[in-house]
Amino acid sequence: MYKKLFKKHLENFISILSKFGVVYAPVKKASKLYDFTELTDFKELQLKYTRTMIPPKKFFLKPKEPLYLLNKDKGFKEIVDDSKTVLLGVHSCDINAINLLDRVYLNQFPDLFYKTRRDNTIIIGVSCEPDENCFCTSTGSSHALRGFDLFMHEVDDRYIIRVGSLKGFQIISECKNILADTSLPDIKEFKRVEAERIKRISLNLNVNGIQDILDLSHDHSAWQENADICFGCGTCNLVCPTCRCYDVVDYLKLDLKNGLRARRWDSCMLRQHALVAGGLNFRPTRVERLYNRFNCKMSFSEDSLNCVGCGRCTVYCPADINFVEVLNQVRED
Ligand code: SF4
Ligand code: SF4
Repeated sequence: MYKKLFKKHLENFISILSKFGVVYAPVKKASKLYDFTELTDFKELQLKYTRTMIPPKKFFLKPKEPLYLLNKDKGFKEIVDDSKTVLLGVHSCDINAINLLDRVYLNQFPDLFYKTRRDNTIIIGVSCEPDENCFCTSTGSSHALRGFDLFMHEVDDRYIIRVGSLKGFQIISECKNILADTSLPDIKEFKRVEAERIKRISLNLNVNGIQDILDLSHDHSAWQENADICFGCGTCNLVCPTCRCYDVVDYLKLDLKNGLRARRWDSCMLRQHALVAGGLNFRPTRVERLYNRFNCKMSFSEDSLNCVGCGRCTVYCPADINFVEVLNQVRED
């Protein structure tokens, strides 16, 4: 189902959204730096943005989150956050990344904390503003087929809104006075604007057989060359919308009776990540960690990548290591 919202009604639309939960949306923090922030002032909303530095995964897997309250006598109690949230302005690549996180955290053994947040969060997509670092057409994530409640395609002075779920339909039902049906000229315009947007995503990563290529290129010089300039800072993991490794930490009070179990984001680019009891480290060198990260990103499962082509790891790498250039170099040499 498709509906049309003229931009002049956007503020009204957002005030209706706020009935469904606290609205978070992209806000400009500095030049070229955007962040999903609670929207308290409509004027701060930036629906035309390239990418946020920290992806929306932070709403489902918090950078540091308490999981259990511990008590020596009473045992443990889960700390579940079921607050209602509306995430407005999520790009297709990030929606596809959330779909990958869903496969990890909801299939087979659902993670209570992730699931509760996911169930209580409404996701509203928006068409993106690609730049020279986007390569989502190569990773098949320039379009979101599922994983959203509504998707707003910007078309000149209006948005063509795609309904993706029952929750989305409920929102639309509340907005009858400000929405209209789409017409044939709207659809024609929508197709033109979408085709132009896709044309702007010009960076290409050849992912055909990439897992084999990487397997066969363990000794390629590109790994050592890039490991030599890598700071081992882990930024590439933190900004990646599909990176999801975490560490679990217990904090005990001085009475040794009460405590807290928390988890926090971890990074496979940090030396301690593969350090185990006894001092053994499965990936003791930076070159092994770098090779591992690229392998991991190109292989979620046999039929799926673990990368959605958002470009964040390239944009925010302090050593200017270009994700696509490294992979293309490994393939070509
Ligand atoms: S962001 Fe760049 S410098 Fe930092 S760990 Fe990743 S590749 Fe290395
Ligand atoms: S590996 Fe880089 S380009 Fe791919 S999803 Fe992660 S941050 Fe984005």
